[in-house]
Amino acid sequence: MSEKKIIKLNLIDLPKVDYQGGTSTLCPGCGHNQITSCIVDACWENGINPASIAKMSGIGCSSKTPAYFLGKSHGFNTVHGRMPSVTTGASVVNSELITLGVSGDGDSASIGIGQFIHAIRRNVDMVYIVENNGVYGLTKGQYSATAEKGSKKKKGGPNEHQPIDLCAMAIHLGGTFVARAFSGAKKSLTSLLQAALSHRGFALVDVISPCVTFANNDESMHSYSYVKAHEAELHTIGYIPPAPAPESIEIPPGEYRDIQLHDGSSIRLEKVDEDHDPSDKGNALRLLHEAGEAGNHVTGLLHLDTTKRTLVDQLGISSEKALIDLTPEEMRPGPDVLQRILADLRR
Ligand code: SF4
Repeated sequence: MSEKKIIKLNLIDLPKVDYQGGTSTLCPGCGHNQITSCIVDACWENGINPASIAKMSGIGCSSKTPAYFLGKSHGFNTVHGRMPSVTTGASVVNSELITLGVSGDGDSASIGIGQFIHAIRRNVDMVYIVENNGVYGLTKGQYSATAEKGSKKKKGGPNEHQPIDLCAMAIHLGGTFVARAFSGAKKSLTSLLQAALSHRGFALVDVISPCVTFANNDESMHSYSYVKAHEAELHTIGYIPPAPAPESIEIPPGEYRDIQLHDGSSIRLEKVDEDHDPSDKGNALRLLHEAGEAGNHVTGLLHLDTTKRTLVDQLGISSEKALIDLTPEEMRPGPDVLQRILADLRR
């Protein structure tokens, strides 16, 4: 007699297979494949309906990955570096969508840097994942703007230019959720993604994601061996859903702090060796600076601000009905309203 196979379902009774996508065509061992698997786990664990997600991306190895997860979600693959502006439009027009942007260090720190910084300062309601390997994998491994000075890929000389730290830039510009993770640390990356999906506002998750083909040698500061030896973890991270089952809290009791997120869930930070308060921007910038000087990668939730209004709130767009659902009559304010607006402008 054959044994019955038990399929585990999530909070909305869907199996994990409903969150998967096509087969990856990236190089075997590429860090981006791990991130794909963490995105699938985070969305499934949070019980998000795949049809309520819009996957957005630009150009690069990283921007190919939305084809490999959430096959039942909406998606838009923009031109190089233009993912943030297209996402801004999608988020404003349909604020009920969960917008999940995937980009790379080339797409975000060079051609798309203008778009990246304005999405942060406007606090667009989106999760922005940077799959950061310090090289342009798709064009055979040239250094990108996030490669550390002195870092060396498999071939050629060391990088001689000053790197751009995307997390430091995001904190400076008022980013409301700023985290750095490592694709080789699956559990903490999944927890950070779950928390980012529960945050309202711009959530940056900068993931160090080794390029095994061009820069996974020991002298590359984005390689698996280098990051494992130089990772300075701020805390052990756990995600607690709004109504947690007792077994879902994986962090053992100890010295920890729970920080509440917008949907009633929380992120649990268990102290490792730094007493870091994520609301303290100055301290987060100091930690990043010191880690950069020492050649280390500081990982964890660097900064969180749950008080700042999102772009949709700043624009005064109704939270009851998304713009896309308004009828033509509701879209036309009528002569009385128009007169009131004109009178206001004349004052
Ligand atoms: Fe990944 Fe590098 Fe291969 Fe691109 S070239 S898929 S970044 S390992």
